[in-house]
Amino acid sequence: MNFSNKIMNWYSKNKRNLPWRKTINPFHILISELMLQQTRVSHVVKYYSNFIQKFPTIEKVAESSEKNILKEWKGLGYYFRAKNLYNFAKLIYKKKFFPDRYHKLIKFKGIGPYTAAAVSSICFSEIVPAIDCNVVRVFSRYFGIHYDISKSLDRTNLSIMIKKIMDVKYPGLFNQAIMDLGATLCTFKKYQCFSCPINDFCFSKNNNVVDQFPKKNKKK
Ligand code: SF4
Repeated sequence: MNFSNKIMNWYSKNKRNLPWRKTINPFHILISELMLQQTRVSHVVKYYSNFIQKFPTIEKVAESSEKNILKEWKGLGYYFRAKNLYNFAKLIYKKKFFPDRYHKLIKFKGIGPYTAAAVSSICFSEIVPAIDCNVVRVFSRYFGIHYDISKSLDRTNLSIMIKKIMDVKYPGLFNQAIMDLGATLCTFKKYQCFSCPINDFCFSKNNNVVDQFPKKNKKK
């Protein structure tokens, strides 16, 4: 089995049971990704379900008011995310066309590279890696990347590396599988390499240096 088969096979049996995993509705996925920015998954679950119940469509959000959207967001924090979502909904409602590619999504305020990649891969099968800190940790350990990947140029290089091994038929599931691996097995401290589906060729596991990755530049 190649890398992609192993990770997809593992994901099919071990994926986290999250409400936004049951849909490929781009607006719902966007809401989940915005809510997840800087916020714990367990905290988002309830807010996501309540929000979707009240505002199931772009129309419902666009026809509402910023005040109402903020009210529904209350308790999640980082309220600029709710404002961005509301403004996005109003623009898209007018255009009557949801941006279906990474380069289109990234033009909207509040949608960064990770969110654009998650939405375009999960909902529109675009072959683009979604790279957040979980994903950086998994791949820096797996490949044994000896430099800090926090800069955007380095992330572009990592993206090229990931594209070579990612599932081209189901890029969204592949991205979600890596996210789940980083959140459950390849965690910051309590990593569980013995249960990991990609442990056979993992550089850091095979060299017993897992705790040395990801590399961070020392602050001057
Ligand atoms: S083998 Fe260990 S370090 Fe390597 S990707 Fe899996 S959990 Fe992470």
